[in-house]
Amino acid sequence: MLIIMNATATDPQIVRVKERIEELGFTAHDIPGRTRLAIGVTGNKNADDRVYLEGLPGVLQVIPVTKPYKLASRDMHPENSVISVQSVKFGDGNVVMIAGPCAVESRDQTLRIAEQVAERGAQMLRGGAYKPRTSPYSFQGLGEEALKILAEAREKTGLPIVTEVVDPNTAALVGNYVDMLQIGTRNMQNFILLKEVGRVGKPVLLKRGMSATLDETLMSAEYLMAHGCHDVVICERGVRTFTSHARNTLDISIIPALKRVSHLPIIIDPSHSSGQRFSVIPHALAGIGAGADGLIVDVHDKPEEALCDGPQALPPVEFSELMRIAKGVCNAMGKSIGQ
Ligand code: PEP
Ligand code: MN
Repeated sequence: MLIIMNATATDPQIVRVKERIEELGFTAHDIPGRTRLAIGVTGNKNADDRVYLEGLPGVLQVIPVTKPYKLASRDMHPENSVISVQSVKFGDGNVVMIAGPCAVESRDQTLRIAEQVAERGAQMLRGGAYKPRTSPYSFQGLGEEALKILAEAREKTGLPIVTEVVDPNTAALVGNYVDMLQIGTRNMQNFILLKEVGRVGKPVLLKRGMSATLDETLMSAEYLMAHGCHDVVICERGVRTFTSHARNTLDISIIPALKRVSHLPIIIDPSHSSGQRFSVIPHALAGIGAGADGLIVDVHDKPEEALCDGPQALPPVEFSELMRIAKGVCNAMGKSIGQ
């Protein structure tokens, strides 16, 4: 349910409404908005529960939210959410560019690539410290050592950092080092991980599961939000289909569909959707054209030596090319991209 308060509601009236919500065994959530004061309610079982709240002083209206996701739903929050990661803003109408290596392989490699993407206009740095690999024999990531390297790269370039969390036991540790936590496609429905990451208190980049529906994706966002993290950015990174010409199929259709029912920003990962360099730029441009709020792109200056996902990494010169063309597309759409 969503409670809309009168514009003239007093602070004690607001406090009383929240107390009443808790007395009923439900949870109250502040819903920020420019034009109205609203309180979200989760945990209630049916729409009739509204009668307990409708008559309270200061309450203008109680609106049932019929979708299974509540906090992620546009019914609860009609305006687009703008999610801040340091000074970077997702969902403000412009396109955020995140770039960097798939994995942190060494201090040298990461600092080098961080400088190269920063010079070319990236606003955030990506880099995996804990890699969820299909094969147990593949490079698994440098763990905490990589987090230290990422923190140093942030110091040198000023770029905020996003990195993946794969284990509830290291969520808080990762949160100490980086600016945004990533949930990977393989863990989108790891609910124990989602709860723990929600509690860390840092913004989250939630990648869509490779076979997840829109509703399932938003239910995972709801897990994060219900556990304290309201700063969620969704990422479409391609889904499993019958095609063999790409690693995954970039599902452009989810962008307008998600924006219709949710206030959360959505970005595109054209690297993991294509899996091969030749289609990264087309996927990226398609994402921008469909209204994505950002891109997250693998960049490596020696892709042939990369320990993870080399074939899909753009060398810096091709990353510059992506920035150049994407700026043109963004201009035509009245948006900006990168810094
Ligand atoms: C990644 O971004 O490094 C990654 C592993 O992506 P995904 O979870 O989308 O496969
Ligand atoms: Mn990768």
